[in-house]
Amino acid sequence: MASVSIHPAVDHGVKPGKDGFGGGTLTCLCADKPVKVKVGAQTAHNHVCGCSKCWKPKGAVFAQIAVVGRDKVEVLENGDKLAIVDASAAIQRHACKVCGTHMIGRIENRDHPFYGLDFVHTELSKEDGWAAPGFAAFVSSIIESGYNPAGMDAVRARLNELGLPPYDCLSPPLMDAIATHTAKARGTLYKGA
Ligand SMILES: [Zn+2]
Ligand SMILES: [Zn+2]
Repeated sequence: MASVSIHPAVDHGVKPGKDGFGGGTLTCLCADKPVKVKVGAQTAHNHVCGCSKCWKPKGAVFAQIAVVGRDKVEVLENGDKLAIVDASAAIQRHACKVCGTHMIGRIENRDHPFYGLDFVHTELSKEDGWAAPGFAAFVSSIIESGYNPAGMDAVRARLNELGLPPYDCLSPPLMDAIATHTAKARGTLYKGA
């Protein structure tokens, strides 16, 4: 089972986060003039993601991605190397034009359920103590990126073994948060009997 690789940050077991951890600096993969982004807080909802939009390290089947308040995210160095991958996407991924690493995923639509949160890849930081990933999102989507459909049982078994329950969308708490946001916008949110 351990031969099923998911992502380098979890393949040898999920590392627990540290209490009181206050953030760190993400660095892109350029040897010369790397982009540096400060994340000044612990992240939330860290998870591995199988969608085709999230940035993955070379050879990884999943991405690892977490959220943090956008007011805690600041470009420190070489921000001129950043460009938005797809300006029409809900999450605007700011990537390094040279090495391709996604540094910040930002939502500009104020009506989006996750507005105010930036998406970041904490593996790009040398600091130890980031919140551990807690689930796997969009697992079936790895097939869209070329994963053998016959290997999916083994992938889900490995995710369960790592303590990353596999979902084919987001986790139940996040799906509930999105639906609650939608119900509020529609005026259909439960108000009690
Ligand atoms: Zn770079
Ligand atoms: Zn994703």
